Amino acid sequence: MRNISDGAQTVLPGMPRRLLRASPKSLADFSDCPRRYRYANIDRPTPARGPRYAHHTVGTALHQVLASWWDLPVEKRTPGAARQLLYSAWTPTGFRDAEQSDRWRARAAGWLTDYVTGLDPTEEPRARERTVSTMTERMTLSGRVDRIDERGDELVVVDYKTGRVPSTDDEARGSQALALYVLAVRRTLRRPCNRVELHHLPTGTVASFEHTEKSLANHVRRAEDVAVDIGAATQAMDAGQDPDEAFPAVPGRQCSWCDFRPSCPTGQAAAPARETWSFLPEDDEA
Ligand code: SF4
Repeated sequence: MRNISDGAQTVLPGMPRRLLRASPKSLADFSDCPRRYRYANIDRPTPARGPRYAHHTVGTALHQVLASWWDLPVEKRTPGAARQLLYSAWTPTGFRDAEQSDRWRARAAGWLTDYVTGLDPTEEPRARERTVSTMTERMTLSGRVDRIDERGDELVVVDYKTGRVPSTDDEARGSQALALYVLAVRRTLRRPCNRVELHHLPTGTVASFEHTEKSLANHVRRAEDVAVDIGAATQAMDAGQDPDEAFPAVPGRQCSWCDFRPSCPTGQAAAPARETWSFLPEDDEA
């Protein structure tokens, strides 16, 4: 009997291929640095992670509030209620001191006020913070979508952005995560879905893209290529290859802020650590 090796695993004729369990984040981790993928997805117990960054605190609080705001009764979905939710959700984690944390909380409250003022509280999204999943030839993929809007017969994938640079339509088009979410939303909610939107809260701008079957197929093809590489690395490690060789480190600037820097000697040697508040724009930029 002939075995077929597809680079990901050895497949016996007639036997179903074992699917990789993946998420857009895990695929991106492997593409950036296979060592980081191994730390996050294979090594158990999970290696120690570094401290939390202040800009993540800001992003997490805003995401949390924008999910909870829709849980309020319609008449209570006001900008003031959003600010109250933010003040409850806020933590000072990662900031230099209380003064910096307070200043950023006020700034985030301002973004939230402007954004929520533009929402129609009666237009209930189809879902918030919803886990969706799909299957490709080599993977089962799942991930959590910030918001799924219902527009006519179609569903729209909405992703909140809180970074310093406004999102662009090119970014919406090129995002593998958003493309995979479109497929997962279609499969999970059994409705048409093509459009993806990036809502940049600091500027209130929206970048978007309407996917076609061709653009989605291109994203899936690239994701499948990564899945093959993950499968090959895992198979090599299982067959006895040194895990550090099977999942090589790709050191670079990103090692300064990589979650797994405390567990990664290669990353520590490659770049200096950054302060946990150093990704916040300066006051005059913000
Ligand atoms: S610190 Fe750098 S080399 Fe180490 S896992 Fe993170 S990104 Fe990879």
